[in-house]
Amino acid sequence: MANNRTFTMIKPDAFSAGNAGAILKMIEEAGFKIVAIKATQLTAELAGKFYEVHKERPFYGDLCTYMSSGPIIAAILEKDNAVEDFRKLIGATNPAEAAEGTIRKLFAKSIEANAVHGSDSDENAEIEGNFYFNQFERVL
Ligand code: ATP
Ligand code: MG
Repeated sequence: MANNRTFTMIKPDAFSAGNAGAILKMIEEAGFKIVAIKATQLTAELAGKFYEVHKERPFYGDLCTYMSSGPIIAAILEKDNAVEDFRKLIGATNPAEAAEGTIRKLFAKSIEANAVHGSDSDENAEIEGNFYFNQFERVL
């Protein structure tokens, strides 16, 4: 995949706090175009599949419970250098370490409930986008 798309989720903490609109506004103002978007809720099993790379980590069970605890927004975003630029916009995993003005600094509650997901590579952006959206649910 070209390096112009990434995948994001607005996680249950940010969605339930009513911050989805503010976060999407920041994403658009940073120059990302929304290519696909939906509100949905993961089962614990699907959350486990999405975060399978972390299955040996001590926080995996809690992460699956948390990610399936309420509605989320899933979206595919387009911009030049999308993966890297989006990771900059969201900030460090732990909000205590996230830079000023980043989405996690502004909205995350904890290292687990950290408001948003951002893909870590072009390859994973494509896999994660395909996890949520079929070809008729996105801009081609
Ligand atoms: P994401 O993949 O959601 O964008 P990330 O790439 O910044 O986050 P990862 O290392 O991939 O961070 O961890 C995936 C998610 O697991 C984190 O976003 C967070 O919700 C949770 N997590 C990571 N580290 C911890 C931890 N030490 N304790 C609890 N939860 C954690
Ligand atoms: Mg990650």
